Amino acid sequence: MSTAVEYDLIIAGGGMVGASLAIALAGRGLRIALIEAHTPGADSQPSYDDRAIALAYGSRRIFEAVGVWPTLHERVEPILDIHVSDRGHFGCTRLHASDEGVPALGYVVTARELGRVLLDRLAQDAALEVIAPARVVSFFDHGDRVRVEIERAGVMSSLECRLLVAADGGQSAIREQLDVPVVRWQYAQSAIVTNVTPAQPHHNVAYERFTDTGPVALLPMSERRCAVVWTVRDAQVDEVLALDDAAFLAAFQQRFGYRLGRFQRAGRRAAYPLNLLRARESVRGRVAIIGNAAHTLHPIAGQGFNLGIRDVAALAEVVDSAFAIGNDIGAAEVLDRYERWRSAEQRNVALATDGLARLFSNPLAVARIGRNLGLLAMEFLPAAKHPLARAAMGQLGRQPRLARGVPLG
Ligand SMILES: Cc1cc2nc3c(=O)[nH]c(=O)nc-3n(C[C@H](O)[C@H](O)[C@H](O)COP(=O)(O)OP(=O)(O)OC[C@H]3O[C@@H](n4cnc5c(N)ncnc54)[C@H](O)[C@@H]3O)c2cc1C
Repeated sequence: MSTAVEYDLIIAGGGMVGASLAIALAGRGLRIALIEAHTPGADSQPSYDDRAIALAYGSRRIFEAVGVWPTLHERVEPILDIHVSDRGHFGCTRLHASDEGVPALGYVVTARELGRVLLDRLAQDAALEVIAPARVVSFFDHGDRVRVEIERAGVMSSLECRLLVAADGGQSAIREQLDVPVVRWQYAQSAIVTNVTPAQPHHNVAYERFTDTGPVALLPMSERRCAVVWTVRDAQVDEVLALDDAAFLAAFQQRFGYRLGRFQRAGRRAAYPLNLLRARESVRGRVAIIGNAAHTLHPIAGQGFNLGIRDVAALAEVVDSAFAIGNDIGAAEVLDRYERWRSAEQRNVALATDGLARLFSNPLAVARIGRNLGLLAMEFLPAAKHPLARAAMGQLGRQPRLARGVPLG
């Protein structure tokens, strides 16, 4: 058997979640390898495309604690208010950053810009080796270590580690090799993503509007633009993508209304099929499964990455504390601690997101009346709004150090 290069930690996947974990643990004394299938910075990297990502305030705290926020801050647009309404009906509710005592409820950044900041940061740490483009092909858990087979430019090689983290996305080959059972649901909906420029300034308000074909989100961006996430039924996707810009703007205007005046310009459009996936286990042997590999959510509430980065903060904390006292970072008690910490929140966010996606896509009158009463109740009961705002900000439950803005160590 050929000798394998040894690491403490191997992260498979350098998307937003895998890259964030590598950054969180860089400089803590661990030997880390990050294996990514795409060339860093290449336009073909699907994780870092033109999608707008709403970062919760809690995610900002994590980026602050790992030292990424000063660079990221220059590329984000703050969300000061969130306005939630049901198209053509009476209910609506508003959340304000000022009511929560925070500078912003969240921040909007394109996945591409976020990727640039994370990849630049990865390149700065000598103890962190980014192996890309390369694929994890298979792995073998030998009990006291994991042997990882990778393929790079047609050449196979072996690496070894104490802990393998699967951050290899919704189609995770590592999760599949482990045969971890998953809950899956196809929504038969896709998100059409683009940006539009409205006649009136957005004043840093994010809009979530529920319509009979699915939710529409409008997020504030720089240069007066707004990012659009428009959920449509799969059968409508080709038709919406084929519209010319004027027809698209008219169709979108009809969905969203005139709250920001007439939409004047549209950017490039892309469609993302929507599905739910939740792995029933997030650790097995010496492998931890995080981010989209563990839970892929409907983007209705912008929770996917925000949940993933809270996984990162918790996993980084348990791994760092074990390593600091000379313990094995891939031992069952370390990974069990991680799973016990995160499983309730992962389940609750997946259930809440799925429930919202179904409730607000349901055209039945009883569902419509129920959700409008719900929105009105939220609006007039400040005590009910506060937990909603804390959830939107990613600040419910026991927070890891990084999520409290406190660096590791
Ligand atoms: C339309 C849309 C809008 C969204 N908006 C929001 C939002 O506003 N807020 C929010 O929090 N979330 C949002 N999300 C969710 C967010 O995009 C995901 O949660 C996030 O991208 C998950 O990142 P990840 O790193 O886990 O997975 P991925 O981004 O899928 O990254 C996986 C990485 O692993 C690599 N890889 C795969 N297999 C291998 C292998 N065998 N070897 C090596 N590398 C491999 C891939 O190349 C990729 O880089 C949205 C999603 C969609 C679709």
